[in-house]
Amino acid sequence: MTLTGKKGLVLGVANKRSLVWAIAKRASEAGADLALTYQSERLAENVTELAATLARPSVILPCDVAADDQVDALFAKIGAEMGRLDFVVHGAAFAPPEALSAPYVQTTREAFRMALDISAYSLVSLARGAQPLMTEGGSLLTLTYLGSERVLPNYNVMGVAKAALECSVRYLASDLGPQNIRVNAISAGPVKTLAAKGIAGFNDILGVYRDRAPLRRNTEAGEVGDTGLFLISDAARGITGEVLYVDGGYHVMGM
Ligand code: NAP
Repeated sequence: MTLTGKKGLVLGVANKRSLVWAIAKRASEAGADLALTYQSERLAENVTELAATLARPSVILPCDVAADDQVDALFAKIGAEMGRLDFVVHGAAFAPPEALSAPYVQTTREAFRMALDISAYSLVSLARGAQPLMTEGGSLLTLTYLGSERVLPNYNVMGVAKAALECSVRYLASDLGPQNIRVNAISAGPVKTLAAKGIAGFNDILGVYRDRAPLRRNTEAGEVGDTGLFLISDAARGITGEVLYVDGGYHVMGM
């Protein structure tokens, strides 16, 4: 699966454990030129240092997906520096910590708004920004979790946000398909990342997957990276509107 001559934007790299970092590495090895973003200045250095380890030089840009002006500025900069885009990998997600430990019934209006805005609406605004730059078709890829369909302990409002995100994948796939822009999601099994640490009892969830998933082990970031490469490559040219599970098969189990 080659990405030679392709240009991609990757949002949501916090550190080397980030799931989208695994996708960025595979994309770069496959020949893509990348732009990577950081949300806050606190992470600018991290992202720049990581990018320096990629197979090819990258463009590093700021973007808080909750701010329309920053999303607009991001695509203006990408247009100026890269000329066009072939793929976008979206890994931004956030819910206030208290919403991921208290019972769901306690979710405040503000926590609900933030979780849905940053974790789901951002895909819509990024798709709109990327559309004019995807002059030769393209691929949008996001990351979701089984908590969108099933109740998993403490996932709470993030599950609701992921349900909105997966539904957005289908509506965006329908809107953008005529331009040959595909929109898909990977539903990853639990992996210990910075974001995952914010979910109370996350280690217990890892244990349940290890014990009950058909493959009897936890998901590795590299597995998400390989599937991500497939979905953004031409090998997946017939796939859109899809949620593909990379979770050792856990989602098929009844208990
Ligand atoms: P991660 O490394 O912590 O990545 C989450 C990223 O979202 C961070 O880079 C974070 O930046 C960014 N972000 C948060 N708010 C943002 C904003 N307003 N604007 C721009 N970026 C923002 O954790 P991860 O687990 O790899 O998460 C990536 C995606 O995978 C998420 O959608 C997550 O829900 C999904 N996922 C994760 C798992 C898992 O078990 N880890 C399983 C299934 C799906 P800051 O650090 O600066 O806030």
